[in-house]
Amino acid sequence: MRGHAHREDPARIQHLWQRMYRGWFYPAGREKLHALGALDLALWDIKGKMLGAPVYALLGGLTRDHVECYSTGFPRQGSLTETARACMQAGFRAYRTSVAESADRVFDARRMVQKTYEQCIQIREGVGSEGDWAIDFHTRLDMPDAVRLCTQIEDLTPFFVEDPLRSENPEALSALRAQVRVPLAVGEQFGTAGTAIRSSSAMS
Ligand SMILES: [Mg+2]
Repeated sequence: MRGHAHREDPARIQHLWQRMYRGWFYPAGREKLHALGALDLALWDIKGKMLGAPVYALLGGLTRDHVECYSTGFPRQGSLTETARACMQAGFRAYRTSVAESADRVFDARRMVQKTYEQCIQIREGVGSEGDWAIDFHTRLDMPDAVRLCTQIEDLTPFFVEDPLRSENPEALSALRAQVRVPLAVGEQFGTAGTAIRSSSAMS
């Protein structure tokens, strides 16, 4: 890009997005895309304030009057069961957990799958039949362990299993989808719409 920095009009969101995305030598990678997402949100927020309208009005209008919320990192209260129960009592619809961590921080996947399963039993008990719980694997397991844990927790009816595998190969998610029955949530690690579309078509 030539010249010195100059003032830009924040209302030209699409122009700014294209300029930030395409205006440099290297194609944007995932990290840049994620940063761009934050800037994009900020620009829409500014535009809404400029026009005195809520952003949803600029994006097609109100479609629902609530947003589903789950809790991540709900403050621990006694046991996991008690914590999950307190989360429901605080008004959340779902309590989210992650793959267990060993005390010595050495990640033995086989042991952690079993420990995670035991924790999920406690969480299901805590949220009760009216509550929901979800788990983020944070892509820490390989395929066999991901299949094993998804299968073990199936009867505990998770709301979703997030990022079950690393995201470099979206086709791996397609292979996983065919082997497990829990709902899968992915996309946080994808950078571009092209990747997401490729992955969702692979998963359908
Ligand atoms: Mg996540």
